[in-house]
Amino acid sequence: MPTLGIDLGGTFVRAAVVDAKGALISSAKAAVMDRTPEGVVETIAQAATEAVKTAGGVKVDGCGVGAAGQIHKDSGVISVAPNLGWRNVPLGEMLKTRLGYGVKVVNDLSAAAWGELHAGAGRGAQDMLVAYVGSGVGSAIIAGGQLVNGGGGVAGELGHIKVVPGGRRCGCGEHGCLEAYAGGHNLIAQTKELLASGNSRILESLVEDNPDRITPLTLETAADMGDPGAKEIYSRAAGFLAVAVANQVTMLNPARLLLGGGVLMHCPGIRLRVLEGVQAYASRTSREGLLITDAELGDDSGIIGAALLAA
Ligand SMILES: [Zn+2]
Repeated sequence: MPTLGIDLGGTFVRAAVVDAKGALISSAKAAVMDRTPEGVVETIAQAATEAVKTAGGVKVDGCGVGAAGQIHKDSGVISVAPNLGWRNVPLGEMLKTRLGYGVKVVNDLSAAAWGELHAGAGRGAQDMLVAYVGSGVGSAIIAGGQLVNGGGGVAGELGHIKVVPGGRRCGCGEHGCLEAYAGGHNLIAQTKELLASGNSRILESLVEDNPDRITPLTLETAADMGDPGAKEIYSRAAGFLAVAVANQVTMLNPARLLLGGGVLMHCPGIRLRVLEGVQAYASRTSREGLLITDAELGDDSGIIGAALLAA
């Protein structure tokens, strides 16, 4: 029987009806206007109703939600969701009451990894590491065909390993995390800081006072053109990412490494540095037979994975 998949972001909710093989039957999107838990539950219910209607009113059996944040694996309580400003919200229970069927809430990256494992670039893998660099940095670990959750459900938080103890402040509230240097939001923040310093002619000429041009790719271009400040930020970020992913390969010895997220997909130089880093720094035995591949499902991976996890 099909299930519902929900992708809960800070600005939009997407809902989809997904069949048992992971194919999308229908989908719907709704803007998050009211960020209170009650408001978000209503928005999810609207999008879910719309998706079921578009699918011809099919019967669905269960609902999976992928949400950015730290989620208690059994209770469906969202401990921390920074983009919604939530702490300890029992989303699973609230949605179950509203929708009338079983609800499973998981971290968005776990959902994406599960989607890729069953319906995308991870098909057939038993041991896989999924590394995403988008606005944030994250990873998910599949071992023996199962998601590794960790004792508290927050295993695989690649973005929050420390690369500079006591360094830049991270969105998680701690200092010196990988994400604070290499996440897309923070690449943009560091680019803005460099522009504000007035010491970066090449970057200034590329941006031309147009804030839309302040992107990780512009930073990469400025670094390639020899802008010293851009080069410093860019090389540091790419270098940290390369070592971090390579070390994870050494630790976990995955058969497959799946790369995804906007920064890795749109900044070819950073992607290349990560690939070279795995070759250069992961232990030789850990990368023997390692297959490196790109995510296939794009923005649908999380919604498909959440639906399949609920099946
Ligand atoms: Zn952090």
